[in-house]
Amino acid sequence: MFRLTNISTILFITTAINLVVAIISWRRQGLREGRYFAWGMISVTCWTFASGLDYSATTIPLKVLFAKFEFFFYHCSLTFFLMFALAYAGYIDWLHKFSSQIFLWSVTVFNSLMVFTNEWHELVWNGFTDSEIVDNVIIFHHGPAFLWIVAMNYIFVLSIFFFLWKSMQSASELTRRQSKFLIGATFFPIATNLLYLFDVIPAVEGVDLTAITFSVSGFLFLMALYGTRFLNIIPIAHHLIIESMPDCVLVLDHNNYIIDFNPAMTTKFGINKNHLGEKIETVMKDYPEVISLTILDETPPPLEVIVDSPTLSVFDTRLTRLMDERNQLYGKLIVFRNVTIRYKTRQELQEQLVEVRELNKKISYIAERDSLTNAYTRRYLYEKLSEWINRKKPFIVALLDIDKFKQINDVHGHTIGDEVLIELTKQLFAIVEDNDIVCRYGGEEFVVAIQNENSQEGLSRFEHVLNNFREFCFSTFNIDSAISIGLAQYPTNSTDLDEILNLADKAMYQAKSAGGNQIVLFSRK
Ligand code: GH3
Ligand code: MG
Ligand code: MG
Repeated sequence: MFRLTNISTILFITTAINLVVAIISWRRQGLREGRYFAWGMISVTCWTFASGLDYSATTIPLKVLFAKFEFFFYHCSLTFFLMFALAYAGYIDWLHKFSSQIFLWSVTVFNSLMVFTNEWHELVWNGFTDSEIVDNVIIFHHGPAFLWIVAMNYIFVLSIFFFLWKSMQSASELTRRQSKFLIGATFFPIATNLLYLFDVIPAVEGVDLTAITFSVSGFLFLMALYGTRFLNIIPIAHHLIIESMPDCVLVLDHNNYIIDFNPAMTTKFGINKNHLGEKIETVMKDYPEVISLTILDETPPPLEVIVDSPTLSVFDTRLTRLMDERNQLYGKLIVFRNVTIRYKTRQELQEQLVEVRELNKKISYIAERDSLTNAYTRRYLYEKLSEWINRKKPFIVALLDIDKFKQINDVHGHTIGDEVLIELTKQLFAIVEDNDIVCRYGGEEFVVAIQNENSQEGLSRFEHVLNNFREFCFSTFNIDSAISIGLAQYPTNSTDLDEILNLADKAMYQAKSAGGNQIVLFSRK
């Protein structure tokens, strides 16, 4: 019933090759389109096997039976490869619909039914005769339905070509190379099938070499599997990382034309397939800072790009120049890393820092100023005078004490006493420069430090205060009040801070002892 001929031997070898490709692709169906491809290869293996059986069978009924299976598996492989091409071109959602599946399989089911029921209608084949040229081969005489079947097959084949070609348009360089392999691999069996249909080579009349040429396809598929790492880990990783990453990725060629991008780029910057092949200057004209990165002749430093609609997003943008082996620029990769959270945190911190600074100002004001009179505190006075001494700046120190202040309190009350203290402070601030110090030294004692070398000039300023204060107290509160003032000089009298203050105090007591309401300039007599 079976006899191995040259043709059937070649077909069984082809089957073995296709089986290997089918197993490899079955194991590697990591990508969504891998499954369809693997099923396609399984169908092709069954097809070439059935074809081998057909050409080795010695009786006509047996040959016709295997020919029917050939048709069935051939249809299956076309359907699976069309599904693969659709998935590869990105129509996976459409493919997953039940209605699409029915649509795709209806042709296979209808044609297979016609072939298997041929005995009843003879629409596909209407006769079989032995080939006079080729050993153990019969010639199938084609009926009218055969034309329909061939037409349908070619519609499938053209669709496969179309979708593979389409996937090349928007794809990365790697995918493009894969598509080229796949298109090439599909081309061989088609060409052979055309030769069979139109009886171009009479020497092989009745022999459909399509199945045999699938070994060439098998080889090409293998090359695609290993040569371009098709369905391999790298495309899977590419898919998983680039496609699903929240950061935006944009690839430009060396002339700044957009050649690839990931879905995040669409959501955040609105880049879509229509922008492929366009210049970045036109597509991203709302982001001049990004364009400025691309016009530099060197790797620019990272840049912060702010997108404020629909919500605020901030991107740490880095451009990497892609160089080939000869150090020639062939493209640019721009990665926009989403750093919105970092940006917002930094802004909050900055706001808090401003608050802290203001608080610090308040605190130091409180530490430096007396709350009643607004004069500087003793602590501030010591700090500043130490600084002046360090820088060897000459200054005059005046120690003031209100005469019989206790009486003012006793007779007119504390509130009036307070007002007198406030008034004296005002008058003291009026006679000093910005960098000089008016300090409330104790209850009703003040120290005024003036950066001045001229003691006579200092003296006249305080005489002014002496008179004004007296006049104010009399006119406002009807109080006869006065002050005693002692003056000492740095570095003339001493270079030690405590000693100078002591000397001023001594001078002040001299003034008080002499009846008050006067100024005494310290001198070592
Ligand atoms: P002398 O002529 O010897 O300087 O006599 P005096 O009464 O001015 O001096 P004494 O040191 O005996 O009294 C100072 C008074 O200053 C005592 C205190 O009640 C008063 N005093 C201190 N701080 C304040 C203040 O903040 N407000 C008021 N109203 N009085 C104060
Ligand atoms: Mg006193
Ligand atoms: Mg006093």
